[in-house]
Amino acid sequence: MEKVGSAPNSIASAGNIAPSKMNGPLWVNAEITYKCPLHCVFCYNPIDYTQYGPELTTEDWLRALRQARELGAVQLGISGGEPLMRDDVEIMVAESSKLGYYVNLITSGIGLTEKRIAAFKEGGLGQIQLSFQDSTRELNDFLSSTKTFELKSKVAKLIKQYEYPMVLNVVLHRMNIDHIEQILAMAEAMGAEHVELANTQYYAWAMVNRDQLLPSREQLARAEEITNQFRARVGNRTKVYFVVPDYYADRPKRCMNGWGTTFLNITADGLALPCHEARMLPGLTFPNVRDHDMRWIWQDSPGFNAYRGEGWMQEPCRSCPEKEKDLGGCRCQAFMLTGDAANTDPVCDLSPLHHLVTEVVDKAQNPGNPAKVQPVVFRDDRNSRKLSGKGEAIPADVTPVA
Ligand code: SF4
Ligand code: SF4
Repeated sequence: MEKVGSAPNSIASAGNIAPSKMNGPLWVNAEITYKCPLHCVFCYNPIDYTQYGPELTTEDWLRALRQARELGAVQLGISGGEPLMRDDVEIMVAESSKLGYYVNLITSGIGLTEKRIAAFKEGGLGQIQLSFQDSTRELNDFLSSTKTFELKSKVAKLIKQYEYPMVLNVVLHRMNIDHIEQILAMAEAMGAEHVELANTQYYAWAMVNRDQLLPSREQLARAEEITNQFRARVGNRTKVYFVVPDYYADRPKRCMNGWGTTFLNITADGLALPCHEARMLPGLTFPNVRDHDMRWIWQDSPGFNAYRGEGWMQEPCRSCPEKEKDLGGCRCQAFMLTGDAANTDPVCDLSPLHHLVTEVVDKAQNPGNPAKVQPVVFRDDRNSRKLSGKGEAIPADVTPVA
């Protein structure tokens, strides 16, 4: 599933947790499976997802979620892969709601039948976030390498029928960002209350396809302008979140609100991580919820303590007056771009390695015809196996951009 990028909009209202307990994770994301019928070119699941398993059992999940709730977690995202590939989501929703979580299902919509949505309603599911890849059938289906546009449109109606707030997520990039007007029109026609226009962040499959996905500055500026016009017209009826790609910023984001401060991700095979992508970082061992109690994982495990606070920082972060604001940016981005997770996130223009970002951005201003530059790589089992542990090798049999 797409990376859960925006702050949960319901944390504040999700529970009445005593302040003394608020030092645990507030927000848990359960990536309950890596299976997915879609094959998105920007997927956040690890490239080598085929190498991990087996999935946690229902009992494993319920135990881990209970322990996280005892630590103070109030918001639960259920994502994947496509979470609806598992048939125990109804149990997880009902049990988590009983525990006091505000539960959010993050789905491509595939597998959301009327029977299942009725069960979710009964079980106390708070919100469904539905993703589309584009406003046109052609591009939606191309980007996911499936024929799913009609199915998603039906699911959107079902979500309204069951009186859920419509939370529409569209990941933006070079190939669909010029459709922003139509995407917003589609959101309006669906009666969306929230629209997340999350520009692709470059991890996992999106990193493999970065040259094809990074939009130009001009595309971004136009998209933001159209989004602002839309906001001015619809007012509070539809809240639109427009997330600019890190590469176009000159300061990094405070990734996950700071390593080990707020967010805890549990992967399909049970690894507890301080962010979605952290399992890629070399030299760190992350605990498995099968083997460890959540309190130890959160408070004491070496993985969760590795980049907490500021003690790990090198220059220029160490002596920077802004370090509390952004805590040096994203450790995974620092590792992917510079080879050292303890470096300053090179998105920052104070980083001596900032050129690693600006060179990519410069290239995106005039990339030529992507179809001639390089084919896109779809997220699927065969490509995952080919790319696992083999660095940058690009499969020869991928479908070129149409
Ligand atoms: S392939 Fe697409 S729908 Fe499936 S998990 Fe990845 S981003 Fe989500
Ligand atoms: S040098 Fe480090 S702390 Fe300072 S603004 Fe850049 S990333 Fe943030």
